[in-house]
Amino acid sequence: MAGRKAQTVYSPPMTDTAAKDSIHAIDPATLTPAMRQYQQYKQQYPDAILFFRIGDFYECFYEDARTVARVLGVALTARSKGENPVPMAGVPFHAVETYLHRMIAAGYKVAICEQMEDPKNAKGVIKREVTRLVTPGTLTEEAMLDGREENFLAAAVCGNAKGKAQNAKTGGGDVATAEGGDICALAWCELSTGKFLTFVGSAAACREEVARVRPRELLFAEGGDQQGGAAPGWVEDFRGAIAGGGAGPALTGRPAWQMDGHHAAQMLKSHYGVASFGGFGYETDGELALRAAGALVAYLHETQKAALEHLQPPRAFERTRHLVIDPTSLRSLEVLRTMRGNGVEGSLVGAIDRTLTPMGSRLLRNWLCYPLRDVGEICRRHDAVEQLVGEEQALTKIRAALAECSDIERITARLCCRRASPRDLVALARSLGTLTSAAVTLAELAAQGGDGRHWEALLDAAPAGNDIAAEITCCIVDEPPGHLRDGNIIRDGCNAELDRLRALSRDSRTFLAEYQSKLIARCSIPSLKVGYNKVFGFYIEVTNTHVEKIPADFIRKQTVRNAERYITPELKQYESDILTAQERGLALEQEIFENLRTKLAERVETLQKLAACAAELDVFGGLATLARARRYCRPMMTGEKVLAIEDGRHPVVEQTLGEKFVPNDTAMGEKSEVSSQKSEGVTLHLITGPNMAGKSTYIRQVALLVLMAQAGSFIPAKRATIGVVDRLFTRVGASDDLAGGQSTFMVEMTETANILHHATEQSLVILDEIGRGTSTLDGLALAWAIAEFLADTTRARTLFATHYHELTELAETSKAVANYNVLVREWEDQVVFMHRIAPGQADKSYGVQVARLAGVPRSVIARARALMGQLAVHVGKSGRAKAAAATVTPQIGMFDPVDQQALTQLRALDMNRMSPMQAWEALKALQGMVEQKKGG
Ligand code: ATP
Repeated sequence: MAGRKAQTVYSPPMTDTAAKDSIHAIDPATLTPAMRQYQQYKQQYPDAILFFRIGDFYECFYEDARTVARVLGVALTARSKGENPVPMAGVPFHAVETYLHRMIAAGYKVAICEQMEDPKNAKGVIKREVTRLVTPGTLTEEAMLDGREENFLAAAVCGNAKGKAQNAKTGGGDVATAEGGDICALAWCELSTGKFLTFVGSAAACREEVARVRPRELLFAEGGDQQGGAAPGWVEDFRGAIAGGGAGPALTGRPAWQMDGHHAAQMLKSHYGVASFGGFGYETDGELALRAAGALVAYLHETQKAALEHLQPPRAFERTRHLVIDPTSLRSLEVLRTMRGNGVEGSLVGAIDRTLTPMGSRLLRNWLCYPLRDVGEICRRHDAVEQLVGEEQALTKIRAALAECSDIERITARLCCRRASPRDLVALARSLGTLTSAAVTLAELAAQGGDGRHWEALLDAAPAGNDIAAEITCCIVDEPPGHLRDGNIIRDGCNAELDRLRALSRDSRTFLAEYQSKLIARCSIPSLKVGYNKVFGFYIEVTNTHVEKIPADFIRKQTVRNAERYITPELKQYESDILTAQERGLALEQEIFENLRTKLAERVETLQKLAACAAELDVFGGLATLARARRYCRPMMTGEKVLAIEDGRHPVVEQTLGEKFVPNDTAMGEKSEVSSQKSEGVTLHLITGPNMAGKSTYIRQVALLVLMAQAGSFIPAKRATIGVVDRLFTRVGASDDLAGGQSTFMVEMTETANILHHATEQSLVILDEIGRGTSTLDGLALAWAIAEFLADTTRARTLFATHYHELTELAETSKAVANYNVLVREWEDQVVFMHRIAPGQADKSYGVQVARLAGVPRSVIARARALMGQLAVHVGKSGRAKAAAATVTPQIGMFDPVDQQALTQLRALDMNRMSPMQAWEALKALQGMVEQKKGG
């Protein structure tokens, strides 16, 4: 690397203003040609930090220099000293990926401006071009990505009620409930893998989906009412849903015309070389989904400046094929990350991911976020896991092969962006080889009578993968250097001209030895030496004793201690031949490599297919390994409304507690085959029990087991029958959204409202502590009404954990409700948690005992006990129950026996068999009963 001249650290003059420090404010006439070029590109990319290649460095100037120095911690120096020093900071080109990663992580976009010609050949200022705009949603490099996670770029378009008519084809989003009649479209793609999907639905449905996709960057159309390029409210709302309290995606405004139907369609047609989108499953050019997709492709072209062969055609995401999980539920169930700390450890995926490749890890996350709904599809996944669970030896062999497999999917993407390095290709060849050996094991399994359906795609594609591997191996050496510029990448024997040039350099030792002998003889100087050094090149060295014997054709080059160094025209010619040979050899290697890369990019479909097979095999292998290691069972899946789990365990807590974890049963729905508990007709379990008993753990456990089963995994239980669920809702724990202007109680009620509006009879609802954020009376009344609505109107399978013991009375009036409690034992005034869920209701709360366990001071505990006695008397006198009942009227009173009796009689009336007169009389009698109570 050519050294950069040492620079003094630049201290900005005190008078320096921000304006003066900005490249935009400077008169181009006062700038050097190179700085004029810098200014020109900076004006083209005002929102990005410009990395301007100068020799072996990427340099930044003016305001960018300050930013880079601050973010990367590199020295802020000055380009020209004196009166007008230009702030400058730079990073060495060979380590640029690391620095880019840090810039992106800090929220910046970076425009890479490369030298497009060899400085030696440049006439005037070196030709430069911006070759790529690096943004959070468009990363492809391994060093800048987390291999386990997808890195999406998304675009969102908002239509309106009119748009709805012409774009009626939605992906299962609930158009009817869209706020203000709006429908929206989303397009999202993963540049590092080529995956590309679209979705059209109500604003609410899109909000849910975008939160599931969690893009790193979100594109929207600029213009409209918003000021100064700010994002409109609905985009901010999407961002909020994605962020979920975290940093959220980068919002990138795009010119509105890029999202109009005509331009977007043109963009897509020219990228995919198609005349219409029927083949991709879209009906009209101007569809809302295609507007988002077109804008996304335009952005990719603008930022990548590459062919992007690996970008798959957009495909409509089929929401109805998948279990829908809203953003809150995904977060509160801690599927991908924990709520506290936001880490993978402690989350569901952290506990169950046994995959060995980044591709497998990403696919598992995808399956957990998009569980299936079709019983057949789910069972096919279970079949594959089951097969591997039963074949220990084969499983071990397959996993040993997968352990050597690199990220084929992302290497393929880098190939297509022409960014794959020589090491990437070697890793690709090795990975394709490992897939072939896994395929051999699977073929053996199939030959022994095993079910080969799951592995058909891999067995089909493996030979093509083998060919690709051979093509790479016969061209690239086994252990190439990291960069193309280092040479020695192409194997000997691969190209005759390269071999000749290499021989020329390699044979120089022989040539020099022979030349030296020739000169010794000619000059009669036995000590004459022919040598080489990097600065002066080849030389003939003669000690001072013999200088008078030097022939006339020797040209003096350098004086050293006790000797003189010379060159001859013949040696000069040889030197130039060798240097040219090295340069030519390097250029030829690059050419051969580029050709290979282009040729391999043409095999993108095969490579993507193999990557998909590898990912799937890895997930199945991981799930089978997990099932074997942790004694998971295969759940029976059905379309009926059943939820029957015997000895279910929480997949995460179990791993922390080990043997201490107490398994629990769940029995709900039409009929339960695995439990003796009352279950027929029951859809709502009211779970009471003291604090710390394990209520939250249990209800989350049930939700997680259903999610895992529908994702295709076995589950931690002895036996289970699970009726597929269409949507999963959870409302657990208190959380504020103070930034969003919402109190704890408001958040709780908003989430509950969402559940009550959207849950269906096929949904699973998990509610923890509803109504705790307000006064006891309001809270109890609300919890009661919500439970009643879910049990009798929605009829969704519901687990309702509560501290309101009064709610257990619901089981007497609704057949759909059953009471459960978490058992505790009292021993010498101590409370012992059994963590066992049993039918029936809890009789006490043990709140004070738990407070004592938590270390609340003794005096406070004693005072609380005394107060409890007094409050019990007070509540008894004032009749909290009566007050609660009064609050809830005109609904049916909750605790009044007369009301209950009237209600029971009303329910028992068989209206179809009654005449109008009989009905009138029955009503009158009921009214009389209630009136009499009022009077009395
Ligand atoms: P609170 O009402 O205070 O929220 P809770 O009843 O919801 O309490 P959890 O938070 O679910 O209780 O559980 C409390 C602790 O009990 C957990 O941290 C866990 O360590 C332990 N626990 C929960 N379930 C089990 C179980 N099945 N087996 C063993 N330990 C358990």
